Amino acid sequence: MKVLVINCGSSTLKFQLIDSDDERCLAKGLCERIGMEGAMLTYAPAGGEKEKKETPMPDHTEAIRLVLEILVNPATGVVKSLDEIGAVGHRVVHGGEEFAGSVLIDDRVLNAVKACNDLAPLHNPANLIGIDACRKLMPDTPMAAVFDTAFHQTMPEEAYLYGLPYDYYRRYKIRRYGFHGTSHSYVSAKAAQLLGKPYEDLKIIVCHLGNGASVSAVKDGKCVDTSMGLTPLEGLIMGTRSGDIDPAILEFIAHKENLGLEEVMTVLNKKSGVLGLSDNLSSDFRDLEEGYRKGDENAIRAVRAFCYRVAKYIGAYTAAMNGVDVICFTAGVGENAALVRTLVCGYLGYLGVKLDQEANSKRGEDLVITTPDSATKVMVIPTNEELAIARETVRLLHP
Ligand code: ADP
Repeated sequence: MKVLVINCGSSTLKFQLIDSDDERCLAKGLCERIGMEGAMLTYAPAGGEKEKKETPMPDHTEAIRLVLEILVNPATGVVKSLDEIGAVGHRVVHGGEEFAGSVLIDDRVLNAVKACNDLAPLHNPANLIGIDACRKLMPDTPMAAVFDTAFHQTMPEEAYLYGLPYDYYRRYKIRRYGFHGTSHSYVSAKAAQLLGKPYEDLKIIVCHLGNGASVSAVKDGKCVDTSMGLTPLEGLIMGTRSGDIDPAILEFIAHKENLGLEEVMTVLNKKSGVLGLSDNLSSDFRDLEEGYRKGDENAIRAVRAFCYRVAKYIGAYTAAMNGVDVICFTAGVGENAALVRTLVCGYLGYLGVKLDQEANSKRGEDLVITTPDSATKVMVIPTNEELAIARETVRLLHP
């Protein structure tokens, strides 16, 4: 079956068409600046030439219409008609406590997702707009919602509760939810498969290090803790997000800089992380690695703080699981930045981690990057959230 995977942001839409029979990606692309001047459509059919064109997209319905049009285009398309697309899988960021797994979309599901909107005001409304637009254009095609939060719903109460008045949890559902769940689930299951061991018997730590970054602890096939919280702001130092800070800093910055709460939140979300720590050098680890190697003190400061925080979470999750069998690195930074992996593993001597420098310098494959006598294995496993969403969609249709 051909599955269209849609990941809608407030002004962007990423898509992939995946053939679930052989799990090949047939085409992928991106709509940017939806609802703005200069909207762009990028389209890359497998084995074909990538095209990028400016084209008006007043809303997400128009963006999806253009995507469907280009997929069936006689010259560059990859399907003859839309009937060939058997299902659509939508990424939905926040499923609250309502969704502990993926679901087929119907009106009840849409209402329940809407009810989660105030938990993820930046993300869920955009995801819903994408679903609505698809339902309008493909009314007879089954659709699934795959939630970023679902995998983490197995966390025990002691891991997901904050030290706040319990009534806030009761009334507002303020708790840790975690994100990147599709990736943590895909990578941890893949690690077990690559090691040839039962998923249910392993203690796995997944470091999803991208522009957004999170760590999770997966014990016996279930997530038991994760570093992101009510929102994706908590946990690791990220590209531009602060991660964990003393909450009293908000009030302190507000006073010192004469800012309102919303402006302080913008600082924490957009001007902090390695961007802020590097004194605005860059949020991109390609630049930071280069700066680090050249001895740039701004780059060194940011990279060191980033890696130290990752190592601290690995320590915490080793304690939470009473051990760890395998540590996995994934996503843009985790898969590509050998320096980051080296520095993080430098903190893991107590786990008997022995890095294999040659393996660590390779790229783009599923790899064990520790030596055979390393007491704990460390792996690099490229994530593939789109494939995981396509698989979930097919599983729901053909249980
Ligand atoms: P997200 O999905 O959160 O936007 P990604 O997982 O795609 O992020 O990761 C993007 C980040 O990965 C970039 O901002 C950059 O820091 C890092 N990155 C990508 N390629 C490389 C590379 N070759 N070397 C080092 N870092 C890289």
